[in-house]
Amino acid sequence: MQRRTFLQSILPAAAAVQQLTAQTEQPWGGPVLDTHLHIRANADACFTHMQGCGVTHSVLLTRAADQERAKGEMERRPGHFVRSVSTDPSQADADKALRDAIKGGAVSIGELKFHLALDSAEMRRVYEIAAEYQVPVMMHIQTFPHFEGEMPYNTGYTQFDKVLRAYPRTKFIGHGDLFWAHISADVPTDRGYPAGPIKAGGLTDRWLSDFPNLYADMSANSGNNALSRDTEFSRGFIKRHEGKLIFGSDCSCADGKGSGVSQNNNPEATRLAGKCVARETLTLLQRLASPEVFRRITWDNGAKHFKVPA
Ligand SMILES: [Zn+2]
Ligand SMILES: [Zn+2]
Repeated sequence: MQRRTFLQSILPAAAAVQQLTAQTEQPWGGPVLDTHLHIRANADACFTHMQGCGVTHSVLLTRAADQERAKGEMERRPGHFVRSVSTDPSQADADKALRDAIKGGAVSIGELKFHLALDSAEMRRVYEIAAEYQVPVMMHIQTFPHFEGEMPYNTGYTQFDKVLRAYPRTKFIGHGDLFWAHISADVPTDRGYPAGPIKAGGLTDRWLSDFPNLYADMSANSGNNALSRDTEFSRGFIKRHEGKLIFGSDCSCADGKGSGVSQNNNPEATRLAGKCVARETLTLLQRLASPEVFRRITWDNGAKHFKVPA
């Protein structure tokens, strides 16, 4: 075979292999940042999850006490992780714990999931620290219990506009059942994850438009359910807030394919049992958004606020 003919015959094959490699590394057509991945006990488990669902980068949600462990994980997998810091704001040393972690390299505060009011003095101190260091703060907002006796987290959401107005330099990232239930103007009080058609004018929808300092974390059943329940509405919602929506999974499945437990045995979130939340929400987004908007939500928006280098 002449050299030229030979090359002509192998080049398309080589190109196909190259393309296939790119596809397996980036099945979503580019890098994907999961901004809501809780650090796991086993150092490799987070990375295994990411590889299984095609996520390339993650924000490791890490308590103040586990910062060193997160650093270790980051050093083992350079270029794939940044980390957050969380601590109970009602503890006496909360200010110092947050400040130390941020000075040590944490890029955000969260997840804050404590039994405090959103406008409490304790939370206000956190908002001030977030503004001072220009890191976002992410809160889990939930009042309806997942199990008997569960206390509400970050209460007072219907008055949250006062906080948003009072802290214009703080970047707030909302997350959780009640934050997403308010995508609709009618919010039932007897369940955490309302289903069915969305009524226009919900507080979350309005505030994302009105306040430049409010962003939305799309993770967990709460985010997935809100965007699945009325896809006609969601298309418009995603278009309206394409610069404000930030992809995250909050998935706890083992392999990024749905094995193990994806939503911590939350009895209300059985619709995602056996599924990987990251995959489900990425698939949904691909269906509801243009490729450009998909890229913004799954990469650009989060990478900007969590300071993730490409
Ligand atoms: Zn949460
Ligand atoms: Zn998963």
